[in-house]
Amino acid sequence: MGTPLETREEQAVEIVDRLEEAYPDSTISLRYSNRLELLIAVILSAQCTDERVNQETKALFETYDGPEAYANAPQEELAEALSSITYYNNKAKYIRTACERIVTEHDGEVPDTMDELTDLPGVGRKTANVVLQHGHDVVEGIVVDTHVQRLSRRLGLTEEEYPERIEEDLMPIVPEGYWQQFTHLCIDHGRATCSARNPDCNDCVLADICPSERGDGEIDLASGDSW
Ligand code: SF4
Repeated sequence: MGTPLETREEQAVEIVDRLEEAYPDSTISLRYSNRLELLIAVILSAQCTDERVNQETKALFETYDGPEAYANAPQEELAEALSSITYYNNKAKYIRTACERIVTEHDGEVPDTMDELTDLPGVGRKTANVVLQHGHDVVEGIVVDTHVQRLSRRLGLTEEEYPERIEEDLMPIVPEGYWQQFTHLCIDHGRATCSARNPDCNDCVLADICPSERGDGEIDLASGDSW
């Protein structure tokens, strides 16, 4: 079990510093070439791997070239095009109705505010944050996905369980200039080392400051259970 720094602010800054050194090229792994493609890729990525989404969107983005094309696509046709993605039926419905709204209410452009984005079907705060950050260069918050959720709890940055509450805890302690990068760093570290089931604490750059470290630590603070 590592010993966290005295305050959560110091702990957050140290985590960012070390992970930046470990993952200097950390960035979003979804592939897209415009804001609409980004929005669609993020909607598809809910509970699905980015790798799988990238495989599917390659052909999808060649077939449908704008919001009208998605809005006018028959439900069965779009669902079929997404059939290897989790919850493809619902996601096809979200994409069609979101694109309808983009056409009728936003002149065919992906909106650039949190309120307008979260008003679209299938778009929650997490999706909106990603689209704002990578599509519009607007950083209003911290994207809390499953990796950020797990690592933030394991590393003692929050005791909250739900993404929006975790984001509220993280925003005052992660320096604002790192809000965007914090997510990518957690994702990279979560994939490479701090996996959900079997974190490799022996090979972790955060081991000495991690209160969940498995050496002689007993509890995984992410789940609250014993290792
Ligand atoms: S791999 Fe282990 S030591 Fe590193 S952050 Fe995860 S739980 Fe902590």
